[in-house]
Amino acid sequence: MRAQPKASHFIDGEYVDDAAGTPFESIYPATGEVIARLHAATPAIVEKAIAAAKRAQPEWAAMSPTARGRILKRAAEIMRQRNRELSELETLDTGKPIQETIVADPTSGADSFEFFGGVAPAALNGDYIPLGGDFAYTKRVPLGVCVGIGAWNYPQQIACWKGAPALVAGNAMVFKPSENTPLGALKIAEILIEAGLPKGLFNVIQGDRSTGPLLVNHPDVAKVSLTGSVPTGKKVAGAAAAELKHVTMELGGKSPLVVFDDADLESAIGGAMLGNFYSTGQVCSNGTRVFVQRKIKEPFLARLKERTEAIVIGDPLDEATQLGPMVSAAQRDKVFSYIEKGKAEGARLVTGGGIPNNVSGEGTYIQPTVFADVTDGMTIAREEIFGPVMCVLDFDDEAEVIARANATEFGLSAGVFTADLTRAHRVADRLEAGTLWINTYNLCPVEIPFGGSKQSGFGRENSVAALNHYTELKTVYVGMGPVEAPY
Ligand code: NAD
Repeated sequence: MRAQPKASHFIDGEYVDDAAGTPFESIYPATGEVIARLHAATPAIVEKAIAAAKRAQPEWAAMSPTARGRILKRAAEIMRQRNRELSELETLDTGKPIQETIVADPTSGADSFEFFGGVAPAALNGDYIPLGGDFAYTKRVPLGVCVGIGAWNYPQQIACWKGAPALVAGNAMVFKPSENTPLGALKIAEILIEAGLPKGLFNVIQGDRSTGPLLVNHPDVAKVSLTGSVPTGKKVAGAAAAELKHVTMELGGKSPLVVFDDADLESAIGGAMLGNFYSTGQVCSNGTRVFVQRKIKEPFLARLKERTEAIVIGDPLDEATQLGPMVSAAQRDKVFSYIEKGKAEGARLVTGGGIPNNVSGEGTYIQPTVFADVTDGMTIAREEIFGPVMCVLDFDDEAEVIARANATEFGLSAGVFTADLTRAHRVADRLEAGTLWINTYNLCPVEIPFGGSKQSGFGRENSVAALNHYTELKTVYVGMGPVEAPY
């Protein structure tokens, strides 16, 4: 098996296994090949990981942010040196084309280690508050043991986006990747040890929806950061609330991308394609409801169809491939069922909708698909599909499109393409979302906060803002004179 790790879990600085755990296979989605065999964590493995994290955390928290940051920056360097190897693993784990993983996965994880490693010494400072003679100061203190739970679309990036701010702030982490993509996070754990991270601070355990609650409900866990779907978010946030634990929820979306008739057509089409087909459409922030102003609808659709049909589909390990398979057969089937609903509810299939004819029958491929004449009430316009399916909706004016774009329980992202400067900012101001893009789409550099509003979640990843979600403020009031008591 070409991606078999030494063992299923990485705890206290080493690979460990427990054969009593439920066995599961890791599948390369392009061919159906079994690339690794692993075990889900038993309760004993969960205990071992949390105990290691709890033991290691206080000493780590006592180090200076500069010393912690230095280790993270070293990890970033190692990740960049091994970018090719890590990207190939990410491609095997997810089926995403190497053309993407080589620029977007380990590199964005490395950006995260580099950014938080560099920014922490200044960003973790507290405040001095003068109070006349007395004064107070605040400290940003770590929370303790944090749990990270990942989705399957960006396994290495998600591990780093959670691990970097948690660690640099002085916490320890137990990370559970998605059962669909168990491999990348193990490598991140290995690299952190090589970079000098003390043992026990970043642990990886495997498992699925039955393992997650063992972590979330554990009394020694102070915080849970989940990347996943809204239904999972509700369960995890509910369980965490029962013990008043901190949470960050990075959940799903059905984001609007609004194209006005004065927009640069090629850029708007490029943005819409990136925001629907990158990572085979398995991106939470995708602009899956593309509202196109009526005057440019037909030229937009004609050019979109031409460019979509030119997408190179094939072996993800071939550098020329632009679109790979879905992560699993279950996800492929779910996306096909949405395509059938789209047709049945009267949307016009512009292109795609089937299995590409140039790929292995065992691979979980789907053609990039565009529906036009989609209306707000259709299932494909309301529910997150999480596959390469773009819905194009028509609109006439600004007030109408803002109201329709906001008529959803989700609020992760939104985009607007227009040449009108004031309209761009006005619309960005009124769309309800955590991240807005003007004349571009889906760019998430580590410097900017990322996260959702409404049911797409709360808390923010990336940027200095993420550090607030892995620390709490401690206030110290200092009395400088005698205590004046009235009795
Ligand atoms: P999922 O919700 O099925 O699973 C996410 C993770 O939660 C997995 O590791 C799973 O094992 C775990 N889990 C499931 N039930 C659990 C429970 N009760 N307690 C604890 N853990 C549990 O999501 P998925 O299918 O892996 O990923 C796709 C979803 O993730 C989409 O909705 C997508 O929009 C979302 N997503 C969001 C972001 C973001 O940053 N906002 C990024 C990527 C993906």
